[in-house]
Amino acid sequence: MSNSATTSSAPRFSLPDASGHFGEFGGIYVPETLMTPLAELTKAYLSAKEDPEFQAELAHLQKQYIGRPSILYYAEGLTRHLGGAKIYLKREDLLHTGAHKINNAVGQALLARCMGKKRVIAETGAGQHGVATASICAKFGLECVVYMGATDMARQALNVYRMQLMGAEVRAVNAGQKTLKEAVNEAMRDWVTNVRNTHYILGTAYGAHPFPMMVRDFQRVISKESREQMLQEEKRLPDYVIACVGGGSNAIGSFFEYLDDPNVTLIGVEAGGRAIAPGEHAARFSGGKLGVLQGCMTYILQDKEGQIEGTHSVSAGLDYAAVGPEHAYYWKKGRIQYGHANDMEALDAFKLLCRTEGILPALESSHALAHAIKLAPTLPTDKILLVNLSGRGDKDVWHAAKAMGTTLTI
Ligand SMILES: *Cc1c(COP(=O)(O)O)cnc(C)c1O
Repeated sequence: MSNSATTSSAPRFSLPDASGHFGEFGGIYVPETLMTPLAELTKAYLSAKEDPEFQAELAHLQKQYIGRPSILYYAEGLTRHLGGAKIYLKREDLLHTGAHKINNAVGQALLARCMGKKRVIAETGAGQHGVATASICAKFGLECVVYMGATDMARQALNVYRMQLMGAEVRAVNAGQKTLKEAVNEAMRDWVTNVRNTHYILGTAYGAHPFPMMVRDFQRVISKESREQMLQEEKRLPDYVIACVGGGSNAIGSFFEYLDDPNVTLIGVEAGGRAIAPGEHAARFSGGKLGVLQGCMTYILQDKEGQIEGTHSVSAGLDYAAVGPEHAYYWKKGRIQYGHANDMEALDAFKLLCRTEGILPALESSHALAHAIKLAPTLPTDKILLVNLSGRGDKDVWHAAKAMGTTLTI
């Protein structure tokens, strides 16, 4: 008999260790000036985690502000179209601000408030994390500064304005490639200088300890819910859980509560871009090498000299040279499998979900869908496949149209 577990027990993997390591990955590879703020943050977070008042307030915000629990949706049209395994979607796209990023932003903003910090900073790439952070800061009356590469600001003007509407200051970063990596550097610099009154809300399960652990914990709610919902709906666990992997937050959140269920296959999907060749993709498990970037030991796309390679993906949210350390750990352990979907496959999946379900997925989430679309027809109809729909695709319509060769004249 498979998938007979019926209770949600604590996973036996109680990682990271006290030094922030997941095996050889993770850690705290930062300048000495950052050690004190990180230690202070770890202490505050671990005490909040055990504080029933903090947890009650978080639960209240998850329900009233974020819109949790998110729906577990049986994708009947897509399932019928593919003619194989039954496909379910975890609808994180229906959350406030349109993606899973809000789960972490709200958790960390609450922590900032508990720590007495009146100012919040964040980095953002495409703008989803910046918008989520700006939203909760507006609600909490916290000053909010978002660092964003100048190139990204030009590409994502609408999200820049959304943040400004919510009272956030968006600071252009003009260093290097003028994208996400440089924005993280600037945010770190600001944090060191202003740590007395400032909390840095990092947007993914990446960076120096405690960020990968903390972000994972705030995203775990995805698999806590999906596990219960699946048991309710199907009276058993899914055979596969599939999620896209940028830094790795929606994926680790989607997988975490299934780590101890050996019959549930967990699959992370990275951005295959145009091709698996230097500079053309962001599939760190297909060509990445061990190294340190922005506080963390993990797999990184780098050249022979250790310089960070350029990356490409049709989806901005998956376009990063390094992968979260917990994913590196489970990849090496063999507990989570990793594949990749290329730009074309993601765009095809994007269109197919629109046509079969009337649901417009984010291009990031479309990578997870693309993998499901390949896998489902190879499986018998009694198998169950759960895909995390990490965000909605409204933000991507313009870019997707262009990528598919349609010119919109609005
Ligand atoms: C940011 C983003 C991602 C990638 O980030 P992870 O930390 O890997 O989850 C995926 N999907 C959406 C919709 C995003 O906004």
